[in-house]
Amino acid sequence: MTDFKMISDAEWRERLNDEEYRVLRQAGTEAPFVGEYTDTTTEGVYSCRACGAELFRSEHKFASHCGWPAFFSPLAGDRVVERTDDSLGMRRTEVLCASCGSHLGHVFAGEGYDTPTDLRYCINSVCLTLEPAEGEAGDR
Ligand SMILES: [Zn+2]
Repeated sequence: MTDFKMISDAEWRERLNDEEYRVLRQAGTEAPFVGEYTDTTTEGVYSCRACGAELFRSEHKFASHCGWPAFFSPLAGDRVVERTDDSLGMRRTEVLCASCGSHLGHVFAGEGYDTPTDLRYCINSVCLTLEPAEGEAGDR
């Protein structure tokens, strides 16, 4: 099994396209409202695009209208790790894939969204791969 935490920067560059590399490995942010999963409501599981670890489920996705896919809970709490991010002069909480350490987005709390956790995992589409549930469009 690949230990994704041991993959070199050069190898990530080969595995990922330019935009994926910029966001996942350099903690970039994709432009709002253009990501492929921003308004997706297809049922399924969202995996890390870098390593394939399952991260989020469609039933935890909600319409945040913030311009990026938003989830109120990760699939399992230990699938992602969170760390303080003081870049851009703001204190935010960065969300990373626990399996490969890639940047996924940020999590915001207490914004008043009508969800069970009042958390918004604001995740870049380019960091995710949606595996549609059985019977959904997109048969493979
Ligand atoms: Zn990953």
